[in-house]
Amino acid sequence: MAEFDLIARIQSRVADRVTRRDDVIVGIGDDAAVLQVPAGMQLVVATDTLNAGVHFPPESAPADIGWKALAVNLSDLAAMGAEPAWCTLSLSLPDNDEAWLDAFLDGFLGLASQHRIALVGGDTTRGPLSISVTVHGFVAPGSALRRDAARVGDDVWVSGTLGDAAAALEQWRAGETGDARLRTRLDRPVPRVALGRALVGMAHACIDLSDGLLADLGHVCRGSGTGSDLDLDSLPASDALMAFANGDARRSLQVAGGDDYELCFTAPSNRLEDVQRLADSVGVQLSWVGRITAKQGVRAFDADALEWQPPRKGYEHFG
Ligand code: ADP
Ligand code: MG
Repeated sequence: MAEFDLIARIQSRVADRVTRRDDVIVGIGDDAAVLQVPAGMQLVVATDTLNAGVHFPPESAPADIGWKALAVNLSDLAAMGAEPAWCTLSLSLPDNDEAWLDAFLDGFLGLASQHRIALVGGDTTRGPLSISVTVHGFVAPGSALRRDAARVGDDVWVSGTLGDAAAALEQWRAGETGDARLRTRLDRPVPRVALGRALVGMAHACIDLSDGLLADLGHVCRGSGTGSDLDLDSLPASDALMAFANGDARRSLQVAGGDDYELCFTAPSNRLEDVQRLADSVGVQLSWVGRITAKQGVRAFDADALEWQPPRKGYEHFG
């Protein structure tokens, strides 16, 4: 297949299966897409690239790669509290493999239709396997959830459970078959889009967890001119993670593992019950994990209120 045929294939799959949106005036097929931003809304834009061997194991199933390429981008929209609308897809492929492309699109377009996000354009080139996605969404003016909006005294919350994807990566690196529950968290992260939108008006600051809680909460704290105290025993862990690791090893995966794609947000402590109700209405587990402090830096404490240092190196954002 020539590049042109690959594009035609993408175009026909999109025409067949994906959410049609009235706000796509011109989609795939012209020199550029023409899109109608709803009156009075602000546009939110994010881009993330996945490179084979860096962001996913090279032998990952193409459907998983397609899913993840969009999921990590939707996670950025979720962290801003935005409603997804459109995306573009820049594909660098080592060869014109029709079966690979079809499977990739199964994952990509399957997730896209779940979130009513339309694929409106992109670029297709030959080269090392690399996927770059740009997503566009909307927020009401001034309502985006930002990193710089935490306030002293806020509670710190996280969605879901932490450390599963990092555990799966460790198993993969060790050459083990590994736990399928953990591997799914690595291959098919679930972007917390409904949660992010529901947090608008409730949360102060919000970020999605791609680099690990310590690093990402560190970004919130630096942006907000605050610090944070984390309660290690409150960190949520899945049954699969509990079975995989204990003690410091588990804590390290939870606070520094990365690839969680959960949301970490801060909210005033008088909204605690609202946050708990929200967990029920959105159907996502939300765990209180700490507090925003005036003292700078992110610290983590164990049950004895002793400050804990992660055993692994490389936490420039810690302390
Ligand atoms: P141009 O040469 O004008 O940049 P292309 O031949 O690259 O146009 O692309 C033709 C059309 O196909 C454009 O609308 C472009 O957005 C779309 N397109 C190309 N590659 C992809 C892709 N991987 N996914 C979605 N749309 C694509
Ligand atoms: Mg082009």
